[in-house]
Amino acid sequence: MSATNSQKLKYLSGLIASCQKCPLYQTATNPVPGDGNPEAKIVFIGEAPGFYEDEQGLPFVGNSGKLLDKLLASINLKRQDVFIANILKHRPPDNRNPEPAEIKVCTPFLKAQLQVIRPRVIITLGRFALNYFFPEALISQVRGQIKKITWQGIDSTFIPVYHPSAGLRNGSMLKSLQSDFITIGKFLDQK
Ligand code: SF4
Repeated sequence: MSATNSQKLKYLSGLIASCQKCPLYQTATNPVPGDGNPEAKIVFIGEAPGFYEDEQGLPFVGNSGKLLDKLLASINLKRQDVFIANILKHRPPDNRNPEPAEIKVCTPFLKAQLQVIRPRVIITLGRFALNYFFPEALISQVRGQIKKITWQGIDSTFIPVYHPSAGLRNGSMLKSLQSDFITIGKFLDQK
């Protein structure tokens, strides 16, 4: 009998918990591998754990997470319907930006998680997640656009949006996020 998605993701979480490939594990309290439905059709990908995520070992549990919950609710989705992960699995000190070397050594975990889940829809939150898939893309130019992709053998629909933390800081980015979630909701309704 082959392993279930849940078992495979737990195995990856174990590898993440013992990873020392970059220095971030030294200053973090907990690893934050990702959380949600192992059979999800939709995966959200953020940047890196922040203070509360590091404290609880769960993604998007601080203020950005509360906004993400509201945006999900606006299109009739709950956390249990989706899987949420980040580019980095340990918190950068003081929430600084991920460094290229950290992204390079950490993203094989994200890639492995995506290869387990094989989502039909990938929604990136913020520029670091967007640039993992499309290194040259500018989020201000492509946000809210729906694109069919085949990535690592996975046929998926790709929709980049701003990171919720940008929506908390800036009213016009919040409006963009709300409108992009309406786009996501309409797209999902057609499926
Ligand atoms: S951030 Fe990623 S690469 Fe760095 S120690 Fe954590 S799991 Fe390993």
